[in-house]
Amino acid sequence: MESEALTYKEARLAVATKCTFCVDRIDEGLARGLAPGVDPEATPACVNACIAKAMTFGDLDDPESSVSKLLAGNQHFRMHEELGNGPGFFYIWDGAAGDPSGPLPPPLEGDRQRAALRGGQS
Ligand code: SF4
Repeated sequence: MESEALTYKEARLAVATKCTFCVDRIDEGLARGLAPGVDPEATPACVNACIAKAMTFGDLDDPESSVSKLLAGNQHFRMHEELGNGPGFFYIWDGAAGDPSGPLPPPLEGDRQRAALRGGQS
C-alpha cells in the first residue's frame, strides 16, 4: 500500500510503540483537503481495516460528523473520565441515548482493580 510505504521507517521495526492515532496519516490527509473519518486516506489504518466496523473516527467538534451522530444517538462512556484528561475514546453500549432501561456499562478498570484490592468488595 502506498501510504504504508510512505511511513515505513527501519528504526521502528521490532520496537513497541503506543498508538499515535495515525497522526502522520491524518495530517497528510488534512493537508490534501481530505476529511478524517470520511476519506480512508485520512482515517486511522485500524479503523479502515476493521471489517466489523467496530470503530469510527471523526471530528467531535462537527455536529454532522459520523462520530457526533453516533454519540448523540447511543449511550456511551469514557474510561477514567474522572481523571479529567478528556479521553478521546468513547465506548458505545446497548441502548439508545436517554433510554434508562438499557444495560449498565461495564465497570471501569480502576473500579475492578480497587474491588480486587479490597478483597472483592466494591
Ligand atoms: S492503526 Fe490504529 S492503533 Fe495503530 S497507530 Fe493508527 S490509530 Fe493507533
